[in-house]
Amino acid sequence: MSDQPTVTAYEIATVNFDRAADLLDLSPEWRTMIRTPFREMKVEVPLYRDDGSFTTFIGYRVQHNGARGPFKGGIRFSPHVGEQEVKALAETMTYKTALVDIPFGGGKGGVNVDPRDLTQRELEHVTRRYVSRIHLILGPNRDVPAPDMGTNAQTMAWIVDQYGRQHGYSPAVVTGKPLELGGSPGRAQATGRGVMLIALAAARDHLGKAPADLRVAVQGFGNVGMNAALLLAEAGATVVAVSDHTGGFHNPGGLDVAELAAYVTRDDGDGTLAGYPGAEPVGADDFMGVDCDVLIPAAIEGAIHKDNVASVQARLVVEGANLPVTPEADRQLDERGVLVVPDILANAGGVIVSYFEWSQNFQQYRWSEADVNERLERILLKAYHDVAAKMKALDASMREAAFALAIGRVVSAEELRGSL
Ligand code: NAD
Repeated sequence: MSDQPTVTAYEIATVNFDRAADLLDLSPEWRTMIRTPFREMKVEVPLYRDDGSFTTFIGYRVQHNGARGPFKGGIRFSPHVGEQEVKALAETMTYKTALVDIPFGGGKGGVNVDPRDLTQRELEHVTRRYVSRIHLILGPNRDVPAPDMGTNAQTMAWIVDQYGRQHGYSPAVVTGKPLELGGSPGRAQATGRGVMLIALAAARDHLGKAPADLRVAVQGFGNVGMNAALLLAEAGATVVAVSDHTGGFHNPGGLDVAELAAYVTRDDGDGTLAGYPGAEPVGADDFMGVDCDVLIPAAIEGAIHKDNVASVQARLVVEGANLPVTPEADRQLDERGVLVVPDILANAGGVIVSYFEWSQNFQQYRWSEADVNERLERILLKAYHDVAAKMKALDASMREAAFALAIGRVVSAEELRGSL
């Protein structure tokens, strides 16, 4: 596909780390210690298909750093999942939880399976086999997965059940569960809500624009992209373009996001934008160049890269996805004065509400959605202001400031533990 990353997720993570480590004047020994994962697990995930054939997928769980609390991070089902990608995403989680100052470390998992190729029964089996291989390193106080690309609340329900068979009732072993099984109100929308809150704050502070003056384009119309688009439209912004892996739609006068969401989530649909009749299609190559104020890549790694960055018209890029801007594209955007809000801040809403879910599970108590949303906003905007202050103090980009703040907290936790 023309919009595939030109550098790997791991290379992006390395540049992000190195720049901040330079600002912190971190020694080579500390750099190696912080970057090296605590533990990496690679497992077979065998499956008898419904047609009787037999396939074996590869599953991973990387626990990057647990100095500040249990490892925390999603499980991704995607044919692109590989060791280096999972490592990079696990490391990103370490800095995300540190930046928003919640008591977790960073982890990530995945299976190199395309969930769209599997039936529900097959997906359940893949999930259960994967959990049966990694359950010994999971646990409410050890490692707490969540949904990510290609997984959802149903996947988490299977994980709770499978884990519970060996360890007893443990709802806090995963977050992003269905409400009926101890999920938190507001969790499904949380990452998109966080993207919306950060986009509006950054647009106010850096573009001097109110929500009603904003034109927004969102790549990815899944959990993050769809909810961010819906909430931005609700806040008064004009969503001019959206896309998913099947294609995109553009209307300079504004798309009807609620109608698009209803189209994608309709009972007899395939969960994609394909065939949407209400707007003009826009090709993947043209999407990043759509005329807008705010561009939100909320799909894949490396989506904005050296070959399409010159076309970006937005003055503000908000990273809904993890690692969606390559270092070269980031450098060019910075030179052009385009503010890029880094993933570890922009998409931290999900892990913050995961923290609320985990807390509620320990308490066996349910908070109201209004309470969840209010606490989310407080924690996320505090992190936003902390990063803004650090940007000034270091005279650095928002990404450098966010990573410096986060890495500094991880180093400090390691030093205090004294466990080296
Ligand atoms: P999802 O599976 O719900 O949705 C992914 C969307 O991206 C789909 O609409 C898919 O069609 C689209 N997509 C895939 N390839 C594409 C391409 N080449 N071009 C355009 N669109 C494409 O996944 P999600 O949970 O929304 O996650 C999206 C990103 O956000 C990932 O990077 C994930 O790691 C990150 N993230 C997710 C959460 C969360 O709570 N779900 C939290 C933080 C970060």
